[in-house]
Amino acid sequence: MNQFRSVKGTHDILPNESKKWQELELVVQEICNQYGYNEIRTPIFENTNLFSRGVGEETDIVSKEMYTWTDKDGTSLTLRPELTASVARSFIQNNLGSQAIIQRLYYKGPLFRRERPQKGRQRQFHQFGVEAFGSENPEQDAEIIAIAWGILNRCGISENASLNINNIGSEKCRIGYRKALKNYILPYINDFSKTSQHRFKNNPLRILDTKSEKEQIILKDAPVISDFHTIEDSKHFDYLKNYLNALNISFTVNDKLVRGLDYYTKTVFEFNSTILGAQDALLGGGRYDGLVKMLGGKQTPGIGFAAGMERFLIAMDKSKKQVKMLTPDIYFICIDLEGLSASLKISNELRKEGFIVITDTLRRSMKSQLREANKLNSKYTIILGKREIDNGTLIFKNLERGTQKTISQTEVINFFHDLTN
Ligand code: AMP
Repeated sequence: MNQFRSVKGTHDILPNESKKWQELELVVQEICNQYGYNEIRTPIFENTNLFSRGVGEETDIVSKEMYTWTDKDGTSLTLRPELTASVARSFIQNNLGSQAIIQRLYYKGPLFRRERPQKGRQRQFHQFGVEAFGSENPEQDAEIIAIAWGILNRCGISENASLNINNIGSEKCRIGYRKALKNYILPYINDFSKTSQHRFKNNPLRILDTKSEKEQIILKDAPVISDFHTIEDSKHFDYLKNYLNALNISFTVNDKLVRGLDYYTKTVFEFNSTILGAQDALLGGGRYDGLVKMLGGKQTPGIGFAAGMERFLIAMDKSKKQVKMLTPDIYFICIDLEGLSASLKISNELRKEGFIVITDTLRRSMKSQLREANKLNSKYTIILGKREIDNGTLIFKNLERGTQKTISQTEVINFFHDLTN
């Protein structure tokens, strides 16, 4: 029979990689907690129209990439392709706005998009992200960007990362800009791809996202959104730039950065990495002051970002920040059936004290258990045989130094504390 294989664009996270994932998750948790962000976990699937309405029918995600099916009762369901819409749905449904004047939330988990798989682009991938609901002020934008920067820093990949920011204005500003952009593009429209021509009709700003060099050249002299900013938009952007300078976070203003999703207003930003190759976006985000209302909630401003965990890990690997595999402190070797319950008990006590302890569950010979302890790079072993059971003792071996000592079973915790202090 043919062996089963994982589905194209999905990956196993194997034991020699999961430690790195946990380390990244821990950094995310620590930094988010430092800024007062609590974790939120939402379901893996949602009603399809949450995404078509929230993210936008015209976006790549909704128009081509969603895993959607009709459930037995006729409801259309979708594996989540992004998390902001889900978090906003939960914010409204659970009335989180009434619990805190600003809801500061972070999340992590798998997402699903039917994209063409390549390095750094998968069909099931993972993101962590943050969302802050309740403040329309630029200091909230600065806080969100500072969290992203803090995490990049702690992961050792900030040196190769660059921040691009833009302000795509409030809706008022975009009405004028859309018109001007369309007027500029119209004479060249036949030189644009089918996709861009489609966007021209439905969401002209997204044409600025084009990857085609030919289109980029035409767009070089296109009108820029900052010329259409309202006074309020410009002020917001100026404040944000000042805050970023004060925080020592360098950035480039990129007036072509619009980001792929429909819900953004004012600030948008992206961190890219020079060590990632073609898929160089590490994380992206922006302000979405209209999203909560559009999804049926009260008018609530919000801003957040989402980061690709696989890409973070690739960047961390390339930046030589090596995370070591878990190595046991103690390998507990029990070579007598009668000693097994004592070995389980003592091992658990040691674990409670913070030691990583492995107990053999194969009832192997002392020689093969010792071999295993060495293979796992364990620092110490404890040996419990017939004689030790009778005497209430244990044999302690320091595998790094090759020394050995007999200790009393009742003294084992103190012994290890003295040893490691
Ligand atoms: P987005 O939700 O499209 O703004 O993406 C945010 C981040 O998620 C990107 O900057 C990438 O790091 C990551 N990302 C997006 N799509 C994929 C994918 N198909 N595979 C792996 N990472 C992805």
